[in-house]
Amino acid sequence: MNDNVVWHEHAVGHQERLTLKQQRPAVLWFTGLSGSGKSTIANAVERLLFEEGKHSYLLDGDNIRHGLNKDLGFSDEDRVENIRRIGEVAKLFVDAGNFVLTAFISPFNEDRKQVRELLEEGQFIEVFIDTPLELCEERDPKGLYKKARAGQIKNFTGIDSLYEAPMAPDIHVKTANKTVMQCAELIVSHLNEKGYIL
Ligand code: ADP
Repeated sequence: MNDNVVWHEHAVGHQERLTLKQQRPAVLWFTGLSGSGKSTIANAVERLLFEEGKHSYLLDGDNIRHGLNKDLGFSDEDRVENIRRIGEVAKLFVDAGNFVLTAFISPFNEDRKQVRELLEEGQFIEVFIDTPLELCEERDPKGLYKKARAGQIKNFTGIDSLYEAPMAPDIHVKTANKTVMQCAELIVSHLNEKGYIL
């Protein structure tokens, strides 16, 4: 980085933003297999937060790849850069006082740890959307498992690419016997209990 680039202090402080917005912002990092319910539940959580007057923004994997990360592919190097940029954007949103919800498979512990380390203590909430592979495959909302089983998609997480389940997620959501709303409420309760919502 150029030595002449210096970090500017803002005239409006982080604490002042939190007081204005009545929330302690954090990144809700949803991780889970394709079709586990990350996007669906993240959207439901965002709706609940909005209705409580809370400020949030959902960073969706596909949308990010259309814009900010459109120059990146799926090589190991590009996947790392994809997550790094998302982490940096999430950090800016949190600094601005907003909750950030992200819905990426993010299969590797190391990548999730990297984002956690970018943020302050308590600002990274790992949400494990835990749905058995068989059920994800049965739901197959985008028809991707079918294609992966037919060999039309290579390196598909859960089929021929590893998913490392979080060992100690901050929130563990087992979706199999729950409705979308029950899953979303579980997450919002956590935010209330841990003092994220003021
Ligand atoms: P992902 O973002 O993890 O790839 P999606 O949210 O796109 O997954 O798809 C999950 C699918 O499972 C949706 O069609 C959703 O309606 C369905 N579904 C059924 N039950 C649940 C539940 N309890 N939680 C989340 N999704 C569920």
